[in-house]
Amino acid sequence: ALTIGIVGLPNVGKSTMFNALTKNNVLAANYPFATIEPNVGVVPLPDPRLTQLAEVFSSERIVPATVSFVDIAGIVKGASEGEGLGNKFLANIREADAICQVVRAFVDDDVHHVDGKIEPASDLETINTELILADLQTLEKAVPRLDKEVKGKKTDKSVLDAALAAQAVLEDGRTLFAAGVDTAPIRELGLLTAKPFLYVFNVDEDQLTDEAFQAEMSKLVAPAEAIFLNAKLESDLAELSDEEAAELLESVGVEEPGLHQLAHKGFRTLGLQTYLTAGPKESRAWTIPVGATAPEAAGVIHTDFQKGFIKAEVISFDDLVDAGSVAEARSRGKARMEGKDYVMHDGDVVEFRFNV
Ligand code: GDP
Repeated sequence: ALTIGIVGLPNVGKSTMFNALTKNNVLAANYPFATIEPNVGVVPLPDPRLTQLAEVFSSERIVPATVSFVDIAGIVKGASEGEGLGNKFLANIREADAICQVVRAFVDDDVHHVDGKIEPASDLETINTELILADLQTLEKAVPRLDKEVKGKKTDKSVLDAALAAQAVLEDGRTLFAAGVDTAPIRELGLLTAKPFLYVFNVDEDQLTDEAFQAEMSKLVAPAEAIFLNAKLESDLAELSDEEAAELLESVGVEEPGLHQLAHKGFRTLGLQTYLTAGPKESRAWTIPVGATAPEAAGVIHTDFQKGFIKAEVISFDDLVDAGSVAEARSRGKARMEGKDYVMHDGDVVEFRFNV
């Protein structure tokens, strides 16, 4: 499964947030995750549509999609020079499919800040600088090699051009993701800043509703997504019943737990979406890449479904809930038969027809 690596300076609240994420794991009991390592958290993707589907179909259980987070040991200044945990840190980031950077905005004199001051913009820059330096090192080695290969007609010039373009952006102090550089031709280099990023600002409770502050921070990290949460509050929420959690959220003026937003935005940052299946046994969300076709979607359930794919009966979630049953949706003409070229939409409710 695709994973999101959690990074950030020491003492910004990474562990607190990661623990809150994994506390929320009640639903994950449905999964065979026995082999998962302690620094991996598999989090259900909250999806109220499943509850509604389960009502329509009187399903016995709900199986949500999941998002996987990896807690990557603390970055320090100088990581790109291999200091301390630096090398291991960079290797762990290389393995992640997206990067979630946690940034401290909360003020608490009892919690030491490595640079002695709370300044999110400068923390962002510290981490970005390490990642940019690591990528520049990779490119310094790769460019002369690619240059030779191009001269020897072993590699296409477009690959070298992409490497040089990436180098220019990084030397300018920008990440490849933020600059929107096309790194597809140099994917094999595994450049860190080419991965999709998202940012969690660990904020004080009063900043949870401070729109001006949030707009300012969002601007700093655009086009990446920003999430504002209070890690301690999230940790408390994870231990409360739904009603108690709702009360606590209301008391701080927030509609949903920050971790729900993190799961959703993380999922989107990974380029994923879900489609739904429903029946008396279960209502379930299945994970597919954005742009997946119907046979590819079927293959997520079982490879035989993809091989023997004939067609898919698709009803959009809203149409199905409006109709109240598959039979009624069909008689309203809302059930479509789609073939092998159909590109799936998020929230399609699907039944596949296939040969075995
Ligand atoms: P990490 O080093 O980034 O993993 O940070 P930790 O999660 O270990 O947190 C460092 C310290 O900050 C701990 O004492 C936490 O209790 C505290 N902390 C974490 N989140 C918050 C927060 O939102 N507000 C306040 N006041 N303290 C926090």
